[in-house]
Amino acid sequence: MEGSRKSYFSGLIMKIHELPTPCFVIDETKLIHNLEILSEVEKRTGAKILLAQKCFSCFEEYPLIGKYISGTTASGLYEARLGKEEMGLENHVYSPAYRSSDIEELAEICDHIVFNSKAQLKRYADKVKNASIGVRINPECSTQEGHAIYDPCAPGSRMGIRACDFDDEIAGMVDGIHFHTLCEQNSDDLETTLKAVEEKFSKWLPQMKWLNMGGGHHITRDDYDVERLIQCINHMQETYDLQVYLEPGEAVALNAGYNVTEVLDIVENNGKILILDTSAACHMPDVLEMPYRPPLKNSGLPNELAYTYRLSCNTCLAGDVIGEYSFDHEIKIGDKLYFEDMAIYSMVKTNTFNGIPLPSIAVMDQNGDCRIIKEFGYEDFKNRLS
Ligand SMILES: *Cc1c(COP(=O)(O)O)cnc(C)c1O
Repeated sequence: MEGSRKSYFSGLIMKIHELPTPCFVIDETKLIHNLEILSEVEKRTGAKILLAQKCFSCFEEYPLIGKYISGTTASGLYEARLGKEEMGLENHVYSPAYRSSDIEELAEICDHIVFNSKAQLKRYADKVKNASIGVRINPECSTQEGHAIYDPCAPGSRMGIRACDFDDEIAGMVDGIHFHTLCEQNSDDLETTLKAVEEKFSKWLPQMKWLNMGGGHHITRDDYDVERLIQCINHMQETYDLQVYLEPGEAVALNAGYNVTEVLDIVENNGKILILDTSAACHMPDVLEMPYRPPLKNSGLPNELAYTYRLSCNTCLAGDVIGEYSFDHEIKIGDKLYFEDMAIYSMVKTNTFNGIPLPSIAVMDQNGDCRIIKEFGYEDFKNRLS
């Protein structure tokens, strides 16, 4: 059955509403729009931009992404291998701690290796022959409210070396400094962060070859102030004579993906509840973790439009509820719904909890033609468990 299902869809060109569900769809028009903005930042500043694969690892698109930006960054061996194999441009890695069994291969396949502590730096520096070495710092400058789990500057953070622990011995062993403190933020918060970095680390910046400003820059969002970003980059590069790197994840694939789902049933309990063939817990875990309300095409807030429903899932987790949405028409069993902004942090976080099938993956080209590039089946559930 699996085999025939695969061959049935492979090679077929479909429109988005014809795709089997659940299905992630990468929108190449939106992806290219984002990449053009990022490429412009590279061109105007000389800074290098890397895809943070933690956010988006759909390597089918790596050749396209590699035409616009400088490479990939990884959080460990697997992502580093993927970046090397599938994009093959500049490849960086940062991990809160490396395992001794991984470090030699990482040193082979990565251009930059960033350590999180003095102990890790001293333990592994000798093993790194060709890659450029850096350390992550913690500028202890929190600029985000709301999501404490995404704040690496929060008290008690394990991320990066604080100024009080940074010393000449560290500075003498590294080519560069890395910080990552932002999450979905604008360039005014980068400016604030850079002031803290300069205040606390300027003694060492002149001896660095590069400064990596991490991710969390929402560069491709409509209200992002790109000019201020460019001023920030130029200021650091000119003042300290160094190469700036940025490693956004979200900004690369922001709004460039959908999760297409079908309404399996409609039940009643203090209002109408749609049971979908996609799951927050399995396919969009940030909806429950972060938490947030994912955008849904042609919908409104509860009671904003004529028909309000609670959207839920076909898992046995009672709390697997996506949220309340309203529509201008009645929803029927068999209708398709389109969750938006699903390329980032959803596809990389899927799981098969409760034996729920993984969504297929499709690519939509600039003509709106979709092609399925990956399907999953029972074996993908079974193989992970023994
Ligand atoms: C998560 C992460 C990124 C990417 O962050 P986005 O918010 O997706 O832009 C970049 N660098 C590091 C070290 C990260 O942990």
